[in-house]
Amino acid sequence: MAEKLLPFTKRQLEEIIKKYPTPFHIYDEKAIRENARDFKAAFSWNEGFKEFFAVKAAPNPYLMKILHKEGFGADCSSLAELVMAEKTGITGEEIMFTSNDTPAAEFLKARELQAVINLDDIGHIAYLEKYAGLPALICFRYNPGPLKKGNLIIGHPEDAKYGFTREQLIAGYKICRDKGIKRFGIHTMVASNELDYGYFVETAEILFDLIAELTGTLKIKFEFVNLGGGVGIPYRPEQKRLDLSAMSRGIKEKYEKIIVANGLGPIRIYAECGRYITGPYGYLIARVLHIKNTYKKFAGLDACMANLMRPALYGAYHHITVLGKEQKSPDVVYDVTGSLCENNDKFAIDRRLPELERDDIVAIHDAGAHGFAMGFNYNGKLRSAELLLREQGEVVAIRRPETLDDYFATLDFAGVPSFPA
Ligand SMILES: *Cc1c(COP(=O)(O)O)cnc(C)c1O
Repeated sequence: MAEKLLPFTKRQLEEIIKKYPTPFHIYDEKAIRENARDFKAAFSWNEGFKEFFAVKAAPNPYLMKILHKEGFGADCSSLAELVMAEKTGITGEEIMFTSNDTPAAEFLKARELQAVINLDDIGHIAYLEKYAGLPALICFRYNPGPLKKGNLIIGHPEDAKYGFTREQLIAGYKICRDKGIKRFGIHTMVASNELDYGYFVETAEILFDLIAELTGTLKIKFEFVNLGGGVGIPYRPEQKRLDLSAMSRGIKEKYEKIIVANGLGPIRIYAECGRYITGPYGYLIARVLHIKNTYKKFAGLDACMANLMRPALYGAYHHITVLGKEQKSPDVVYDVTGSLCENNDKFAIDRRLPELERDDIVAIHDAGAHGFAMGFNYNGKLRSAELLLREQGEVVAIRRPETLDDYFATLDFAGVPSFPA
């Protein structure tokens, strides 16, 4: 069983908490950088390989900047994410704009930034042309439908709202070619949190075959193939990491067999992973607020699902370490809860942990992607701070916690005394 380690000791964490009260998210810069370098290195055989970090996984300009320095671009799928990329200094073809059900204003912003636009539907070609004009480079998101088995989170491709069918894809490229577009890319993303590398090799093969076919029939040249995100991480201690080098080798083999052998190269391989890049290197730190014994034992934290939705939303497992009690035997069974008036608000159900007491500090693992980002304000719960643990051990606040004033900012209390008139 792989041990779930922490990048700080209890003493160090207590020092951090003196300055930044719990709950907060903290990200490990060193580990993020090392992981980013490994990811890039795994695909170094492909000239022009680029990872576009999926901003929605951890939308913080400091994290985006770190990854940009490591050579990553940004995968954006909303107006706010485009603006965040721009403010971080990521523009042009370092942005992949992969949206769906997209409003005109987002296309306009993507065009203004000269981002690579990845259309989700054939109907978006005319829409984009009308509202923002067609770009010189266009990419389409392919949904292979029944050609591809589904994966657990994203479900069967046929049921997914994303992408073009095969027929639409062919028709779409033809329309764009006939309108004078000369630069093309292709994209798909049919998995989420997938740990089997074979899944991505198979996806690459489907896309390479499609490129070979489309190049032949439409006489267009593909510059890149974007394999999407969805590479999983081992949330549970007994799970193994995805074998990245085997994945890269598998994709390389298909690339040589289909792209190189048919003289279709070079084609740049792109990825837009979020979870794999930052997921394991972010932690939600909280304190035990109350221990409650009724029909079960409950350990209530000072955090709640507003800080980390995944367990409540998907029943997702997030490992929990109790600081300073790592060596104690986990022989008490708890539901670890938050304070939201919603019975789903549990970080863990029937989790074996060492005996807990009020003020114990817990670290909830693998909260570095789709963690803080999903937070909401239901029940008037405020989102926490985000901290960055720098490589030399220094801690910087990369987002302050929300205040009640933030929460009330959209309300007009001044008008209330004279209402109703
Ligand atoms: C969510 C998303 C990603 C990132 O998914 P991960 O599971 O975090 O890798 C990438 N691309 C698109 C289009 C997405 O919607």
